[in-house]
Amino acid sequence: MVVLGKDRTESAGNRSQKMAITEGISSGSCLLFSSTEPVGLVEELIQKALSLNASDIHLDPSPDRWEVRFRLDGILCLQGNFPSSLGPNVVARLKVLAELLTYRTDIPQEGRLELRDFPRANPAGSATRHEEALRVIEGRLSTFPTLHGEKVAIRFFGRDASDLRLDQLGFEPETLERLQSLLSGRQGAVLLTGPGGSGKTTTLYAALESIKVAHRGGIHIFTIEDPIERPIAGITQSQARPGTEFDFARGLRSLLRQDPEVVMVGEIRDAQTAAIAMEAALTGHLLLSTVHAGSACGVLSRLLDMGVEPYALTSGIRGVLNQRLVRKTCIACSGKGCDACNKSGLAGRLLLAEWIEVKGALRKAILARADLDGLLDAAKLDAIGGESGESELWAAGLRALVRGETTLAELTRVLGPKPMQLITDSITKIVNMSQHNQSEQGTGA
Ligand SMILES: [Zn+2]
Repeated sequence: MVVLGKDRTESAGNRSQKMAITEGISSGSCLLFSSTEPVGLVEELIQKALSLNASDIHLDPSPDRWEVRFRLDGILCLQGNFPSSLGPNVVARLKVLAELLTYRTDIPQEGRLELRDFPRANPAGSATRHEEALRVIEGRLSTFPTLHGEKVAIRFFGRDASDLRLDQLGFEPETLERLQSLLSGRQGAVLLTGPGGSGKTTTLYAALESIKVAHRGGIHIFTIEDPIERPIAGITQSQARPGTEFDFARGLRSLLRQDPEVVMVGEIRDAQTAAIAMEAALTGHLLLSTVHAGSACGVLSRLLDMGVEPYALTSGIRGVLNQRLVRKTCIACSGKGCDACNKSGLAGRLLLAEWIEVKGALRKAILARADLDGLLDAAKLDAIGGESGESELWAAGLRALVRGETTLAELTRVLGPKPMQLITDSITKIVNMSQHNQSEQGTGA
């Protein structure tokens, strides 16, 4: 094993002066790096990742090489490898950039990466989310000691939020309208949920930006975050440090004395934060936050479990948004597979959202302290066409499928399995509905 590994390393090293990242992703595409020294290689890795619009870089040490993986549209893709002889110096270079301890390789470390005046990669390429951000790259570097060396993970933060717009995130028009109307209010809580990587933070930042723009800056907006992922001009952002005297709960309590009008709390994850957040929402503040739960109703159930009084939920919560990101069918090749989508047929992401407001049957169920099933049943009663009992996320996904914007495999991956009969029934309904709408429009014109 070891001998084989050594041979491979040597052959990889001898192959050419150019370092070839030899194992391409499934398509067989191959990344070429011209640098054979750590500083240049780090720069190229980051440039490549950004030009592919990757959200994360992972460097995994094995006995004979380091594997390079990028997270593209939420999926971890093997990009290739480089010789293990370079590994420790690459890690050291990254640690210098993040101001970590280069001589400590025996403990996990974490730090902020901030790369100024970073050269623009892929200038002629298609517009990517990161492209204009290439002047300043921000992210978080984490290192973790493993058997064969320190594993590296880099998470890139989004760019400055000034050009983030709610109407460009991919919400369906109705959802967008409801969200914008709730954000125009001056009090109450608007909460977001969804698993990691479902775009919650992006939505939160875009929401803050839209509030700021709507009030032409004449409104006091504060955030308490961990971590601060994007700087937003005109908004007071602060970094909470859980486990210290400045955690979410204590930070929020002090912040309310600063007379904010809009408050964003990164996450409500304990009873104290939940209590103060709901108090803020009930006393003349617009509060935005996220809660970890599987569904919009799950957020309400979670808050009840945290000891929030039912009346505080029914009077304080304006709406709960549950969102997911699914990969979009590649526009360039209509899903057949091309270079633009790395032969996957999928490129870019689409936002699916489920949205509940506290009213009607749901309001009654909360006041009766119903359990999660009870809340879900009530929400279904309130929803239009709720008799089908299907989740609104699936409904939104199938509407996108009918429009040719995504695939069934992708919906199943993100939303979980669903019986085929229900899927075909729903699709038939959607197609009939759109034909009906079209013929109505035809009559009108
Ligand atoms: Zn394509």
